Amino acid sequence: MARADAAPAVSADILGVRGGGSLMKEPDRYVVHVPFTAPDLTRARQFARMVARSTARLPEVDAAEATVSAEDNQVVQSRLFCDRLLDKGRRCVLRADHEVPCAIVEPAR
Ligand SMILES: [Zn+2]
Repeated sequence: MARADAAPAVSADILGVRGGGSLMKEPDRYVVHVPFTAPDLTRARQFARMVARSTARLPEVDAAEATVSAEDNQVVQSRLFCDRLLDKGRRCVLRADHEVPCAIVEPAR
Protein backbone atom coordinates (compact mmCIF):
# COMPACT_ATOMS: atom_id res chain seq x y z
CA MET A 1 0.00 0.00 0.00
CA ALA A 2 1.29 3.41 -0.88
CA ARG A 3 0.39 4.93 2.47
CA ALA A 4 2.28 2.31 4.49
CA ASP A 5 5.30 2.56 2.19
CA ALA A 6 5.43 6.35 2.44
CA ALA A 7 5.75 6.55 6.23
CA PRO A 8 9.34 5.21 6.62
CA ALA A 9 10.66 7.51 3.85
CA VAL A 10 9.22 10.57 5.60
CA SER A 11 10.66 9.36 8.90
CA ALA A 12 14.12 8.95 7.37
CA ASP A 13 13.98 12.55 6.19
CA ILE A 14 13.02 13.74 9.66
CA LEU A 15 15.92 11.88 11.24
CA GLY A 16 18.39 13.20 8.67
CA VAL A 17 19.66 9.77 7.66
CA ARG A 18 19.10 10.15 3.92
CA GLY A 19 21.98 10.78 1.58
CA GLY A 20 24.50 8.55 3.34
CA GLY A 21 24.26 10.15 6.78
CA SER A 22 24.26 8.02 9.87
CA LEU A 23 23.22 8.41 13.48
CA MET A 24 26.13 8.35 15.92
CA LYS A 25 23.99 8.50 19.06
CA GLU A 26 20.51 7.50 20.10
CA PRO A 27 18.03 10.08 18.85
CA ASP A 28 16.31 12.26 21.45
CA ARG A 29 12.87 11.10 22.55
CA TYR A 30 9.71 13.23 22.40
CA VAL A 31 6.08 12.72 23.39
CA VAL A 32 3.01 13.60 21.30
CA HIS A 33 0.13 15.06 23.30
CA VAL A 34 -3.11 14.69 21.34
CA PRO A 35 -6.28 15.51 23.29
CA PHE A 36 -9.36 13.38 22.63
CA THR A 37 -12.74 12.80 24.28
CA ALA A 38 -14.06 9.68 26.02
CA PRO A 39 -16.95 9.05 28.43
CA ASP A 40 -14.65 7.80 31.23
CA LEU A 41 -11.08 6.68 32.02
CA THR A 42 -11.72 3.06 31.02
CA ARG A 43 -12.85 4.10 27.56
CA ALA A 44 -10.02 6.62 27.35
CA ARG A 45 -7.52 3.83 28.06
CA GLN A 46 -9.13 1.61 25.39
CA PHE A 47 -9.00 4.40 22.82
CA ALA A 48 -5.42 5.29 23.74
CA ARG A 49 -4.32 1.64 23.35
CA MET A 50 -5.91 1.56 19.89
CA VAL A 51 -4.07 4.75 18.90
CA ALA A 52 -0.77 3.41 20.28
CA ARG A 53 -1.15 0.09 18.44
CA SER A 54 -2.03 1.86 15.19
CA THR A 55 1.24 3.82 15.32
CA ALA A 56 3.41 0.93 16.56
CA ARG A 57 4.53 -0.02 13.04
CA LEU A 58 6.43 3.25 12.75
CA PRO A 59 10.04 2.57 13.80
CA GLU A 60 10.29 5.83 15.75
CA VAL A 61 7.31 4.94 17.96
CA ASP A 62 7.75 3.06 21.26
CA ALA A 63 4.10 2.10 21.72
CA ALA A 64 4.88 -0.19 24.66
CA GLU A 65 5.78 2.88 26.71
CA ALA A 66 2.51 4.66 25.88
CA THR A 67 0.62 6.31 28.72
CA VAL A 68 -2.63 8.22 29.06
CA SER A 69 -3.63 11.05 31.38
CA ALA A 70 -6.48 13.43 31.94
CA GLU A 71 -5.97 16.59 29.91
CA ASP A 72 -6.10 18.77 33.03
CA ASN A 73 -3.75 16.49 35.04
CA GLN A 74 -1.00 15.37 32.69
CA VAL A 75 1.42 14.84 35.58
CA VAL A 76 -0.52 11.69 36.52
CA GLN A 77 0.02 9.25 33.65
CA SER A 78 -0.96 5.59 33.61
CA ARG A 79 0.73 2.98 31.47
CA LEU A 80 -1.37 1.37 28.73
CA PHE A 81 0.57 -1.87 28.27
CA CYS A 82 2.17 -4.39 30.64
CA ASP A 83 5.50 -4.47 28.71
CA ARG A 84 6.98 -6.98 31.22
CA LEU A 85 10.26 -8.47 30.02
CA LEU A 86 9.73 -12.15 29.13
CA ASP A 87 12.04 -14.83 27.74
CA LYS A 88 14.37 -14.15 24.80
CA GLY A 89 14.10 -10.40 25.34
CA ARG A 90 10.47 -10.33 24.27
CA ARG A 91 7.91 -8.24 26.14
CA CYS A 92 4.27 -8.73 27.14
CA VAL A 93 1.87 -7.03 24.73
CA LEU A 94 -1.24 -7.16 26.92
CA ARG A 95 -2.85 -4.15 28.60
CA ALA A 96 -1.23 -2.89 31.78
CA ASP A 97 -3.83 -4.30 34.18
CA HIS A 98 -4.35 -7.71 32.57
CA GLU A 99 -5.41 -10.64 34.79
CA VAL A 100 -4.28 -13.51 32.56
CA PRO A 101 -0.66 -14.65 32.20
CA CYS A 102 1.62 -12.40 30.18
CA ALA A 103 1.67 -13.02 26.43
CA ILE A 104 3.72 -12.17 23.38
CA VAL A 105 2.69 -11.97 19.76
CA GLU A 106 4.79 -13.84 17.25
CA PRO A 107 5.47 -11.90 14.05
CA ALA A 108 3.31 -12.86 11.04
CA ARG A 109 5.02 -15.19 8.56
ZN1 LIG B 1 1.93 -8.90 31.02
